[in-house]
Amino acid sequence: MATANVPRPSDADQVGEILASPEVALLVAELEATRWTGRPGYGSHALVGMALVKSIYAIPIWTRTVALVREHDALRAAIGGSVPSVYACRRFAVKLRRFQPLLDACLDRLTTSLHAELPEMGVDVSIDGSDMPAFANGQRYISKGGRERERFSDPDASWGHRSAVSTRRGGGFYGFKIDLAACSRTGLPLAWNVRSARNAEAPAAAPLLDAVRARGFNPETAAMDKGYDVGPVYDACEDRGIRPIIPLRNTPTVARGEHRPPTCEHGEWRFAGSDAKRQIAKWRCPTDECKPASRWIKADRLHPLIPRETPRWRKLYKGRASVEREFGNLKHRWALAPLRVRGLERVQLHADLTIMARLACALASTRAIPLAA
Ligand SMILES: [Zn+2]
Repeated sequence: MATANVPRPSDADQVGEILASPEVALLVAELEATRWTGRPGYGSHALVGMALVKSIYAIPIWTRTVALVREHDALRAAIGGSVPSVYACRRFAVKLRRFQPLLDACLDRLTTSLHAELPEMGVDVSIDGSDMPAFANGQRYISKGGRERERFSDPDASWGHRSAVSTRRGGGFYGFKIDLAACSRTGLPLAWNVRSARNAEAPAAAPLLDAVRARGFNPETAAMDKGYDVGPVYDACEDRGIRPIIPLRNTPTVARGEHRPPTCEHGEWRFAGSDAKRQIAKWRCPTDECKPASRWIKADRLHPLIPRETPRWRKLYKGRASVEREFGNLKHRWALAPLRVRGLERVQLHADLTIMARLACALASTRAIPLAA
């Protein structure tokens, strides 16, 4: 990524700049046109501004966002002078869910503009899911040995499994999962979806790839971890002209060694290119002494068109780290976690608004960097 000697704008300047950008200004104008406020009061400009402040300053709740803007002159000026109440912010979030298509269109504009600035965006994508623990208690009993819980404060949340991260052990958690397709080269989010934690990860891959393509990206490869190593994910990728980059689980066919390259008396055969249209890969005798010296193998989970033995596969699989990095970034720098809302719809809106701020800031800084001379 290019770095330039341009001072980073203050966060308050950035809020004003994003509100003025054509991608977000149109959302403000469209929300205004729906006259959803009903009564005179805070305009969409101030309320979209409050949502940006909440993510840019990584504040999990409206109460403290309002408190911050009240005592911060530059922020107050950036959102237009008057500070909406906590109640107005909450009502805005409720109403925004009714106008989800307008928010979706704004997210489309942001990714489209980023794509125009960064042509390599979306060529190699990485997909993964991550835990979002609920703002609710999922324990079955009220206390140890006590009575059973009758009402759960977040009925959409459920128990799921998460893997270990750093020093935190993997295990069960109660809440939601966010599935994310990130660009392996720029790290930017391309498409995402929130679901209850109990649902499996692999079926999320195909809809994410469709969402990425619907935003005008043309992915060539998709890297995923072992959790996605099932036949339908490979088919979903190849059906869309995308090469899957997924390591193998130790299934019976793998234990029997059926995934290995062909061998002969001269040694292990070498990969010699693939034909995506015919879905076959060519393998060649290492000394060319065999007759025939090469043969075509049909692509499948055990023999993908970019074989796992190649440096290209290894490089692309390393790129998968970008999606993990982006989860950490979104959770810690942009306050995607901890959740302070309940219910699938609200959690999805929270993710959308967080990623909107993330993408809008990325776009603003891309535009701020002058092209290298
Ligand atoms: Zn041979």
